[in-house]
Amino acid sequence: MAGNLNPLRRIALLGATGSIGTSALDVIARHPDRFRLHSVSANANVGQLLDICQRFRPRVAVIADPARYAELRDGLRDRKLATEARADAAALTEIAEAGEADTVIAAIVGAAGVSSTLAAARAGKRLLLANKESVVLAGQVLMRAAAEHGAQVLPIDSEHNAIFQCLPQDGSRGGVRRLLLTASGGPFRGRSRQSLEEITPDEACAHPNWVMGRKISVDSATLMNKGLEVIEAHHLFALAAEQIEVVVHPQSVIHSLVDYVDGSVLAQLGNPDMRTALAYGLSWPERIDSGVAPLDLAALARFDFEAPDLRSFPCLALAYSALRAGGSAPAVLNAANEVAVAAFLAGRLAFLGIPALIEATLSALPAEPADDLEVLMHCDEQARRMAAELLTRMGEA
Ligand code: NAD
Ligand code: MG
Repeated sequence: MAGNLNPLRRIALLGATGSIGTSALDVIARHPDRFRLHSVSANANVGQLLDICQRFRPRVAVIADPARYAELRDGLRDRKLATEARADAAALTEIAEAGEADTVIAAIVGAAGVSSTLAAARAGKRLLLANKESVVLAGQVLMRAAAEHGAQVLPIDSEHNAIFQCLPQDGSRGGVRRLLLTASGGPFRGRSRQSLEEITPDEACAHPNWVMGRKISVDSATLMNKGLEVIEAHHLFALAAEQIEVVVHPQSVIHSLVDYVDGSVLAQLGNPDMRTALAYGLSWPERIDSGVAPLDLAALARFDFEAPDLRSFPCLALAYSALRAGGSAPAVLNAANEVAVAAFLAGRLAFLGIPALIEATLSALPAEPADDLEVLMHCDEQARRMAAELLTRMGEA
């Protein structure tokens, strides 16, 4: 048998306890000859983080919430594990840029992931990028840092992973007419606006095709997820808003398409399972087993397509207008959405209040130039404060 020529990849997994983190661990465990887990992080779930440490023996484990540090340290000691316990946001950035890891999986949810994602880009890592909010908030800064420091960005959103696979690998965009992002339409596809008034968090989180974290599940139900993905595609693939279109495809099997000027349309298909994108990112440009079942087209029988319903789901239109406005607008959109979704999940805002709050925040904070991280983070904070204030006023009204 020929010797194993694959370099061993050492991985920092940020957001190890989440939905993407769990899928990534599944792929990593299938290939012990290729992958080693160097470090892991979680927000607050110490028990799950300890189980991961027990199974994968990483060098470092970070808990973002400093109040849980002692619990992590003592848990590692009780289990006689050599993993070093660390806490807080600075430790997250440190594992993202540590020299011992060559690959970073950015799977934290929300703008909380921006510093570590950016640190990985600045450290020239192979960056498996699931944390879409960091691209929406600081896409230009992130892509510039990746280019300057030789980081290889591999998109882990299924749509962007599909597009990455369908675009020319030399980075040229010459023959590309447009990108077609597919959207499942979420759990409320086909519903009238009026019928969405009483939606509960659990209904919004019951996605027809994908099992995901709660924030992205709500984003899928409002179509803001697709809006964030349009902005993400703009940055990842350097194409204008006019060249990025959304088509609803309820089966979630065609993950996205690239339309070329000669009339060719290339698509990537597969069962809806994030392990495909993660395996592709981990082994690129090779292909490895991901554990995902082969696609059975005859069993699927049909694919449907329709235009998105912007009346019932105004978030998609809000995202397009934030992208066109540029500057601080996408950061404000993202921050207002995070506040709105958290309030909805906490029972403090109605489902239709989500787009209303985002729109009100965008009107209160018109777009201004913002192209460095400090300014963008300031806009993010300002937007969170404004959205919280508007939320209180909406509650009082
Ligand atoms: P999740 O809620 O299941 O997991 C989030 C992870 O981030 C957890 O490990 C959590 O501990 C950590 N985290 C949360 N808040 C944190 C904070 N303040 N500081 C540090 N860590 C924190 O979310 P998910 O569904 O795995 O999604 C992760 C990211 O991937 C999101 O940006 C999402 O949009 C994107 N994404 C997810 C899917 C999917 O199928 N789940 C698909 C495409 C893209
Ligand atoms: Mg997606």
